[in-house]
Amino acid sequence: MLIIMKFGGTSVGSVDALKNVVKIVADAKKNGHDVVVVVSAMSGVTNLLLNAAHQAEAGNEQAASQARVEIDNKHAEATRHFLGDSPQRDEVMVHVRMLLDEFEALCHGIHVLGELTPRALDVIGGIGERLNAPQVAAILDHAGLSAESVEATELIVTDNCFGGAVPRREATQIKSQARLGPLLEGGKIAVVTGFIGATEEGITTTLGRGGSDYSATIIGRALEADEVWIWTDVNGVMTADPRVVPDAHPISHLSYAEISELSYFGAKVLHSQAIRPARRVNLPVRILNTFEPDHPGTLITADYKNNGKTVKAVTAIKNLSLITVSGPGMIGITGVAGRTFSAVAKTNTNVLMISQASSEQSICFVVPTPDIQKVVNSLENELSREIERRDLERVKWEENTVILAVVGAGMKGHPGVSGRLFSSLGEEKINIIAIAQGSSEFNISLVVAQGDADRAVKAIHKQFALEKP
Ligand code: ASP
Ligand code: MG
Repeated sequence: MLIIMKFGGTSVGSVDALKNVVKIVADAKKNGHDVVVVVSAMSGVTNLLLNAAHQAEAGNEQAASQARVEIDNKHAEATRHFLGDSPQRDEVMVHVRMLLDEFEALCHGIHVLGELTPRALDVIGGIGERLNAPQVAAILDHAGLSAESVEATELIVTDNCFGGAVPRREATQIKSQARLGPLLEGGKIAVVTGFIGATEEGITTTLGRGGSDYSATIIGRALEADEVWIWTDVNGVMTADPRVVPDAHPISHLSYAEISELSYFGAKVLHSQAIRPARRVNLPVRILNTFEPDHPGTLITADYKNNGKTVKAVTAIKNLSLITVSGPGMIGITGVAGRTFSAVAKTNTNVLMISQASSEQSICFVVPTPDIQKVVNSLENELSREIERRDLERVKWEENTVILAVVGAGMKGHPGVSGRLFSSLGEEKINIIAIAQGSSEFNISLVVAQGDADRAVKAIHKQFALEKP
């Protein structure tokens, strides 16, 4: 089998974690598999880099030097442990320091200009992966596993939407096969930087925060791999956030449709786009735990496996605001909804949920709270005439709201699920502000006040007996 193994930040973030990585890769090779490794930056590094860039823009250049020291230490420690005094260690550390010089120079430029462009932010953000791939390759190589690091700018071709670039499938396939094919044929392990890609012109882009998952499935698809294994620090996708619900437990199987709903709705375990390339070609994805490699984790495939539960998981996305556009002028008039959402689209804001009652007196929708001001401004601008004429009221919004997404393909055509859902919240005296159900019927989304979120998640988890596997 050809397996793409992605290791997240915590899986490569410490000496102990890296020991497990070596063992996991060695076992796969022993079992006769071909392996492409995709790595994130060591944990915390991407945040340090991005934060330093923002600080430089704000006039503080010191943050970059501090970040540099911290990042250097992480790599120095890991290489010292695994590579000792070897020439390989020197080689890795020379590369690390060269990239950190580049990082400091970029921050200096930003500081001087007082301006940080999305393009520069992607170059800086991607340095963590570029530091880490050669390190992991050297560690594997030193352990007797022949490995070579590759920058994904040579493999993944994207558009130029910096901060959330979209891959181009065909170009990516051609480049990935040409570059990685010979390595695999030679029995080598390719260690690829997650998170980054490049435009046709070769300008570095990133796939959005947490994007290494996406890198793994993009490469999996391009190489027609047999499976993608996402190694993380939990035993798979959980029925709920275990910090909120202590008896939450891992779900052994999910369909692509179910994981898409969950990752869209903030189940932190997978990047929101990552499943798409896999789904297109029926590529199985496993979520596995680097720190408990024998746990079966979660397997994600096309089919829906009935585990006897109508609902499989409940997740909460916090820090959202609910916007309401309403007024007597909305009834029966076409175009208000269209104009409302194009005004939102102009601000490049992600709308997470929409709901309109059939009375047509109001539309409400949910956006991330940090975007609220620009969305409201754009709406009031677009609808100013109607607001002046009192056909519409001024745009209202409520901060500190949360979307609860209740997900499971077993809900489809299964009457009574929403009844049970609402009564479980009613019993807890939790007020539901808005409701939406996708027509897939795999997901019911509710808006509640942030202060009620944890209690609501617990009540739903209990109502649908999710604690029992
Ligand atoms: N290092 C990147 C981030 O922190 C990408 C990833 O970890 O998947 O967002
Ligand atoms: Mg992640």
